[in-house]
Amino acid sequence: MGVIGGSGFYSFLDDVTELRIDTPYGAPSDSLFLGEIAGRKVAFLPRHGRGHHLPPHRINYRANLWALRSVGVRQILGPCAVGGLRPEYGPGTLLVPDQFVDRTKARAQTYFDGAPLPDGTVPNVVHVSPADPYCPTGRRIAVKAARGRDWEPVDGGTLVVVEGPRFSTRAESRWHASQGWSVVGMTGHPEAMLARELELCYTSLTLVTDLDAGAESGEGVSHDDVLQVFAANVDRLRTVLFDAVAGLPAEEERDCLCTRALGGMDPGFVLP
Ligand SMILES: [Zn+2]
Repeated sequence: MGVIGGSGFYSFLDDVTELRIDTPYGAPSDSLFLGEIAGRKVAFLPRHGRGHHLPPHRINYRANLWALRSVGVRQILGPCAVGGLRPEYGPGTLLVPDQFVDRTKARAQTYFDGAPLPDGTVPNVVHVSPADPYCPTGRRIAVKAARGRDWEPVDGGTLVVVEGPRFSTRAESRWHASQGWSVVGMTGHPEAMLARELELCYTSLTLVTDLDAGAESGEGVSHDDVLQVFAANVDRLRTVLFDAVAGLPAEEERDCLCTRALGGMDPGFVLP
């Protein structure tokens, strides 16, 4: 199991082992931190680095997913902070999206870009479907885990991923909301798609930390507000994540579309 999120998610575990890893795509955001939850091995990766020094558009998503897979991770939970695009999705709302919309601009977003790896192997041209971008099993288990802790989540919705690091203008925010999209964040893409390309299960858990500019009437989002709401909810989000980790299927019982994402196509390289 893998969890891509802040240090608040693993700092309470006993016996955490730090593992520094390099990948053909360079270094991941930080070391992997290996621990155990309910007898299951879990690798934690601080998405922004442990000192939160990496802005969303500078994260090496390819290295992050590659590193996790290379230590045996096959199912990933990806918690992240988002802005709510509807008044009813206020701070503290937990939403488990079933769709995303990519509005990022300049990120390496595929392993199949035709560029050779450092060892000379050249990836094949492969097109992977993101029609249903999140693991259906992981989503179901995440929703159940939240309910088990009396935190009724929004089951489904669309996560708009913007390039950042700036927040949205009111016009952008109103446009996102008018499309019927639910929440807006900066890290959901290409994280989920890269996981899919490596046939990993990926489940996004979004925590609303503020109402986005188009859904509120105040002065707009501030970074301080985001941090405050995240800190206020990190304990219960960690509990839900741990319950979800315990509830995810064993590797031999994984039978979702994620496991067949390449449809038998040869990626041209050996999956880590
Ligand atoms: Zn899956």
